[in-house]
Amino acid sequence: MSQAPTRRDYYDILGVQRDADDAAIKKAFRRLARELHPDVNRDDPAAEEKFKEAAEAYEVLSDSERRATYDRYGHDGLRSGGYAPNFDGFGSMSDLFEAFFGGGLGGAFGSAFGGGRSGPMQGSDIQVGAEVTLAEAAHGTPVELSFDAVVMCEHCRGNGAEPGTPIETCPKCQGSGQLRTVARTLIGQVMSTTTCDQCGGEGKIAATPCRECRGRGRLAEGQKVSVDIPAGIADGQRIRVSGRGHAGERGGPAGDLYVLVRVREDPRFVRDGDDLVTAVDVASPQAALGVSVEVPTLDGPQQLEVPAGTQPHDTLVLRGHGMPSLRGRRHGDLRVVVNVVTPRNLSHAQRKLLEELNESLTQENLHSDEGVFAKLRRALHHH
Ligand SMILES: [Zn+2]
Ligand SMILES: [Zn+2]
Repeated sequence: MSQAPTRRDYYDILGVQRDADDAAIKKAFRRLARELHPDVNRDDPAAEEKFKEAAEAYEVLSDSERRATYDRYGHDGLRSGGYAPNFDGFGSMSDLFEAFFGGGLGGAFGSAFGGGRSGPMQGSDIQVGAEVTLAEAAHGTPVELSFDAVVMCEHCRGNGAEPGTPIETCPKCQGSGQLRTVARTLIGQVMSTTTCDQCGGEGKIAATPCRECRGRGRLAEGQKVSVDIPAGIADGQRIRVSGRGHAGERGGPAGDLYVLVRVREDPRFVRDGDDLVTAVDVASPQAALGVSVEVPTLDGPQQLEVPAGTQPHDTLVLRGHGMPSLRGRRHGDLRVVVNVVTPRNLSHAQRKLLEELNESLTQENLHSDEGVFAKLRRALHHH
C-alpha cells in the first residue's frame, strides 16, 4: 500500500477549475487515464501510481457529497468522514480500468502490470457507500445501490470467443503463455520470461474475439442491487453481500459487495450505544412546579412529565425509545436531559413576583441529600 508523501489537490490532479461541472471532470479524467495508460507508458513505472491518484481524485469529485466535503474540509474532512480510497480491492489495473471505462481502452493491458495467469481466481470485492437517516437506521430500510462491477460476458459466456468460433492455441507463445526474450547486455546474454501479451498468459486465444467484450470474457456493467439495512445499524458499519462483487476469472467465484453505511446525524439526538440522548428546555419555575413537555422521539413527539423539583441536568428516561439492538430484541432508551433555564429580561411585574418568592424561601426549599462532591459531579455533567 503506497501512500503519496504529500496529498495533492484533487482539482490540480485532474487539471480542472474548482467550479468544473460533472461532464468536465469526467472528460478530464478520461483524458488523463488515456495518457497514463501503461500500454502508452511502458517505461514509466509511476504510471500506475499516477493513475490511482487520478482515479481517487475522480472518485471524490464525481460524487457530489464527497466533493462538497472535500471543498469545505479538504483531505482531512474526507478521512474523518470515513472516506478512504479503495483501489487495492481491484485485482489488477485492468480491473480498475474496466470498472471505470468498461474495457473501452482495450489493449493487452493485463500483461503490463498483471503478471502471469494461472487457475481460477476469485473476483475482487467492491465497496459502496449508503447513507441513511437516524430514523431509517432505527427502523431498518431497503436501499437501492448502483455501481459498476466487472461481470462475465454473457455473449461469449466468458470464454472471449465469438459464439460458434473456435478457441485456438496462441500462435505467439505456442500455448505456453510465456515469452522468452534474450537480451544482449554488458554482462552478456540475459534470458527473461514474460507473460505472453497476446493471450494474457492463458496459452489459448479466440480466433474471432467476442464482439461484446473484445475477447476479454469480462466487462464492466452498471449494477443495481437492493440491500436491506438492518434496524440498529451504526455509522461506519459494513454489510457484506456475498457474491455481488467483481466476477471471478477462469471459473473463479465472484467477490463480495461491502456496503459502508453512513448514518446521517440528527440534530435532535446524540447516540450513545443503543441509547439516544436529547435535551429539553424547562423554565426554572416549571421545574419547581412540575410540567408536561413535548420531547422529540424517532416516532414523533411525545409528552413527558417533568416532576416538581426537577434539578438542572436531571435525566428522565423514555424506555424503549432509543435504537434497537442489532442483535436480539432489546431496545435502547431515550434519555432526556432537563435543561433548566433561568428566566431573563424580567418585566417589572415578574421581578416583583420573584422577589416575593425569594423572600418566602426557606432552607427547606433548598434542601438536598447530595454532598458537595455529588453536586460538583452533577455540575460537571458526570452522571
Ligand atoms: Zn464476450
Ligand atoms: Zn500466448
